[in-house]
Amino acid sequence: MSINEKDICRLPLVAMRGLVIFPEMVMHFDVAREKSINAIKAAYESDKKIFLTAQKDVFIEEPEMKDLYRYGVIAKVRQILTTQEGILRILVEGVQKAKLETLNIGTNYISADVLPLQYSTRSKIDQVEIDAVMRAIKKQFDQYSQLFPRMPKELIVAVMCQDDPYKLFNSIIFNIGIDFYDKQKLLEENNILKRLNLLYSFLIKETEVLTLEHEIQELTKENMDKGQREYYLREQMRAIASQLGEEDEQEEVFEYMKKIQELNLSEVDTDKLYKEAERLSKLPPASQESFVIRSYLDVVLDLPWNNSSKSKANIEKSRNVLNKDHYGMQKVKERVLESISVHSLMPDVTGQILCLVGPPGVGKTSIGRSIAKALGRKYERISLGGVRDESDIRGHRKTYIGAMPGRIIDALTRAGTNNPLILLDEIDKMSSDFKGDPSAAMLEVLDSEQNKTFRDHYVEVPFDLSQVLFVATANTLDTIPAPLLDRMEIIELGSYTREEKFHIAKEHLISKQVKKHGLKNSQMKIQDSAIYDLIDCYTKESGVRELERYIASLCRKAAKAIVSEEQKKVIFTSKNIESYLGPRKFLQDEQATENTIGLVNGLAWTSVGGVLMPLEVIHLSGKGVVEITGSLGDVMKESAKIAVSYVRSIAKRYNINPDFYEKRDIHIHAPEGAIPKDGPSAGVTMVTAIVSALSGIPVRSDVAMTGEITLHGKVLPIGGLREKSMAAYRSGIKTVIIPEKNVPDLHEVDDIVKDNIEFIPARTLDTVLKNALVYQPEYNENEYDNAASIIPPADKNTSKPLAYL
Ligand code: ADP
Repeated sequence: MSINEKDICRLPLVAMRGLVIFPEMVMHFDVAREKSINAIKAAYESDKKIFLTAQKDVFIEEPEMKDLYRYGVIAKVRQILTTQEGILRILVEGVQKAKLETLNIGTNYISADVLPLQYSTRSKIDQVEIDAVMRAIKKQFDQYSQLFPRMPKELIVAVMCQDDPYKLFNSIIFNIGIDFYDKQKLLEENNILKRLNLLYSFLIKETEVLTLEHEIQELTKENMDKGQREYYLREQMRAIASQLGEEDEQEEVFEYMKKIQELNLSEVDTDKLYKEAERLSKLPPASQESFVIRSYLDVVLDLPWNNSSKSKANIEKSRNVLNKDHYGMQKVKERVLESISVHSLMPDVTGQILCLVGPPGVGKTSIGRSIAKALGRKYERISLGGVRDESDIRGHRKTYIGAMPGRIIDALTRAGTNNPLILLDEIDKMSSDFKGDPSAAMLEVLDSEQNKTFRDHYVEVPFDLSQVLFVATANTLDTIPAPLLDRMEIIELGSYTREEKFHIAKEHLISKQVKKHGLKNSQMKIQDSAIYDLIDCYTKESGVRELERYIASLCRKAAKAIVSEEQKKVIFTSKNIESYLGPRKFLQDEQATENTIGLVNGLAWTSVGGVLMPLEVIHLSGKGVVEITGSLGDVMKESAKIAVSYVRSIAKRYNINPDFYEKRDIHIHAPEGAIPKDGPSAGVTMVTAIVSALSGIPVRSDVAMTGEITLHGKVLPIGGLREKSMAAYRSGIKTVIIPEKNVPDLHEVDDIVKDNIEFIPARTLDTVLKNALVYQPEYNENEYDNAASIIPPADKNTSKPLAYL
């Protein structure tokens, strides 16, 4: 380097803050200070040359000589751009290194006397050392560029292929972001070897810093909570979407994602839902598939994952609610209150499933609603009648077109809470077919062990059903699969007596219907006698459903009269009721009018409660055919055969021609053929009817009976005594013959029934016949050879004319 005093020149100076320029380097930067702006303008207007040197402290506003580095660069101003804020953006190209000699701080700008410097000549360099350091630098640069984001590939290639130490130095120093102090050191160093060595050490330092920075970043990223990360990703997606002009559609996806996050589900489930939302974001918004996903997400997000009613367990209050809504039903109410008590002691106890069994219209459904009210839970009803497909309970996989969640999930959505009372109505009417067994799915729903993670096929994400209170209703237990029955606590609800019906109507049904029809209690009255008429002559049922319907009908008539005829009040009486409802349909004692030959009141138990089921028998000349009609099942047909055989065995005792089974056809018929009848309990009825028909002795019309028979004439016990006796009572029967073994069941029979009916226990058919037939035939000893030994002999002198066949 040669120094020549004459070379000193005066140039405008710009003090650089945090920047160092090198000869041959082109760079642009912004200039804000007025003196610097003026300096540049001055330079630009003359030979465009300017002296650039760095400030030692970037914060000094008006630098003096001591604040500036002595070595800087003479540069050419290539371009000036004035930005709106009055800042000057300039493009400069470094020309030559120069040393600052003196500084002239003018009012307008600073100018400097600088001495241009030359680098030492290339001849003095040791090539081997240079090669070594160049190789080291390249290697280090390679490492550095891997850590440096967005390093252009071309630059890396250019560096790797560079043989010239000066050019190598330049291409690296122009492009890396090292500290300006270090850059200044490099600028000041004249020796290329030393300069390269310095550069190498700075590169190492910089690589280490970058490595550390990366490590810290990674660590922070890991530590960043999942939510934050997702938020960050979502923000990114939102930005991308807005760039693509798909903001609206994506907005929806973000909404979904936000809601999914708010559900606080397990990680696996959240991920699953996220995936769906992500799929949605990738699909065209109008496509079929995106529609499917959207409805899926809507269903899942609508489920009450975290929403529950505050279930309050106050016994007194609950008792009041139950009593207010329903008349009688003491057993059910007590059992429900017990449940509530247990619940208040141990709120976490789960798995108590009540099953209310009884004929229709006895208030099973409505007591379910009251229980929910008493417990402060939401009430939802699922009708299971006719459900024959598992997917009804558990939903369809969402891959099916039109797939929907099952009824359980549906009920929960409607309830909007995760602890409602769900009434499984008519659980006995579920049936299975080739599409799967719904009761298997039901088992899972009702099992407190399994229902914590109930998986609907559609929803896929498990839902906890353990807080749900299930109450089932059924008409009969016969058709409920045993495993299902095992999980439930059965509470039987019996038929109502006439008195009970009266109270229910007077205290509940009438006011309920009056209100429902927009009437006031003062506008309509049904007299007591009319209520009894409704019960006796218009309805024939175990429950009060028909009764309620008739009351509703009267309410409509009253409403019409009030509106169209401007009546103030409508009073329904026993006298005028026919003008509103038409003639009475059932006349009391309808069947208990006349003692008839071959007609016996049987008692049957059907799923709609007990019914009086008359049985008719006639005999005709023929050849011993037993004809059976009236929808009788197989068991009934067998009973008929046993009955015929038994009657043959006692034929003589009743003066019946023992050959009747050869010469006469017997026709047994159970009227109301539309109702299928089966079961063994009509055995006694058949025998009585056949004996009556063949012997010509009428049967007492005020007697009803039930009981299974054996060939030897024993009477076996039957079920459903309570319902059957209730039916007898309703029909005005005075005497009911029951199997002796059923006597203990009499305690279940309502008091009003016991007060009005005489129960005759029968151990053998003899007792049955004695009490049912109007009279007993005289005993003919000569003819008596084949009768069962249990029949006592009668007086042969008073024997009545034989009804020979
Ligand atoms: P189920 O479910 O047993 O077929 P519902 O619950 O539908 O019977 O009852 C039919 C109607 O009779 C309902 O309006 C119900 O409120 C009313 N009801 C039944 N039993 C009673 C009762 N003991 N007290 C008051 N209302 C009753």
